[in-house]
Amino acid sequence: MSAKLAEIAAETGLLLRQVVSLPMVVERETWLDYPQRGEWPESQARELLGIIFIFRSQSLSFSPDDRQILANFADYAAIAVNNARLYEAAVNERRRIDALLGVSADGIMVLGPDLKVERLNRALLTLTGWSRAEAVAYPHDTIISWARQHSEQTLSQALAGGWPGEDFRPLYVEGDLRRRNGSVVSVEIMYAPLLGRANRLLNIIGIVRDISRFREADALKATFISVVSHELKTPVAIIRGYAETLLRPQARRDPALVEELLTGIVEESERLADLVDDLLDASLLEAGGLSFQEVEALNLEELLGEIVERYAAQTEQHQLRLDFSSEFPTIDGDPQRLAQVFDNLISNAIKYSPQGGEVWIRGRATPAEVTLAVKDSGVGIPLDEQERIFERFYRVEVPEARGVSGTGLGLYLVRAIVRAHGGRIWVESELGEGATFYVTLPRQTGLVLQATAGMITLK
Ligand code: ADP
Repeated sequence: MSAKLAEIAAETGLLLRQVVSLPMVVERETWLDYPQRGEWPESQARELLGIIFIFRSQSLSFSPDDRQILANFADYAAIAVNNARLYEAAVNERRRIDALLGVSADGIMVLGPDLKVERLNRALLTLTGWSRAEAVAYPHDTIISWARQHSEQTLSQALAGGWPGEDFRPLYVEGDLRRRNGSVVSVEIMYAPLLGRANRLLNIIGIVRDISRFREADALKATFISVVSHELKTPVAIIRGYAETLLRPQARRDPALVEELLTGIVEESERLADLVDDLLDASLLEAGGLSFQEVEALNLEELLGEIVERYAAQTEQHQLRLDFSSEFPTIDGDPQRLAQVFDNLISNAIKYSPQGGEVWIRGRATPAEVTLAVKDSGVGIPLDEQERIFERFYRVEVPEARGVSGTGLGLYLVRAIVRAHGGRIWVESELGEGATFYVTLPRQTGLVLQATAGMITLK
């Protein structure tokens, strides 16, 4: 040490005669585990933060008093250094947590033991529609207000029942949350208790996840099963009934009856085949690819004339009228798919006009596109349902149309086909006043459809 002292003295040019070293030591708690279940640090370790060297130029040696004062000074310095380090670590930790909260797609909230919101992230604000100023320091139940709960108990009910209890298990709550604007969203919330010393509840962390997609998928599955089973049952029952009648020898002796039954069987089989086709198309569309044929130049007036002729033969109550502007142009398109579009629109116009009446099919053209309108004077569609009828399986409940069978798939497919041709479809209607469906198609879509060699990917 004295050699080192001489070296430092020589280097600094100071007359250094004495040196005393003071260790800067702090006691640090060692964390055995994250403090769950009351696992708080039991052991403590001493950590050396550094050493202070004190030099003296007098030759007088350090007295015990000097040493005590210097030792105290070193302790204070150690505490100050340690605090600065802890503070920096705490600031960094907070930044890390803020970043985590910020990037999380799930809503996160930190509640105090009094269930007031201490912190919450942007995702939760977006999900609930509350602003930070309206949420922070307000009770949990203001932000999390259940329109319907699917779990046994809410957070307040669980706490009243003794949660988190002895095993500190997280609490799972699922239901429909009322947003600030009154709308509803399906969520699941996982609450986890954060415990302090002696198992005192410090905070409750709540992770909120939007599960509307899963709920919608469940509802869709249920609708699918009920629609399919109902729609399959009817034609199958009819075919079976007719076939059973035909098996009776006395029925077969009546040629008119045989003809009627066989026609019925053919018609119902066609209905079944159409239903299966629609289901297949819908699943293809879901998977992202509806098939298309080669595109050709189409005379829509002719195509609609054929469809109208077919339907006119099936109904006496309805008068189908075609009105195309003179020199209506040909357009590029998939003949089968476009026939499917207008077949659906015309059959709907007839189906949803149970009292009968006129159905007008109008065609107009501009240099760039053609617009076709299918207008009926039937039950009509309420304004707030007019967008939804294009969704899968969506059917409007109006008393006048009760008993009209269908799957709610037709318009879903119609819209996809029209869009794949680069066109648009919309409806104008008033309840009880009939409906007009408009389809606008570009005159040249060939490039769009052909480019993908028969297969179109739809968004
Ligand atoms: P489906 O006729 O098999 O139920 P669609 O997808 O073709 O299915 O139609 C969806 C819903 O839109 C129908 O259930 C019906 O409520 C409504 N709708 C469609 N076309 C008409 C129309 N011309 N008039 C009144 N309502 C209609």
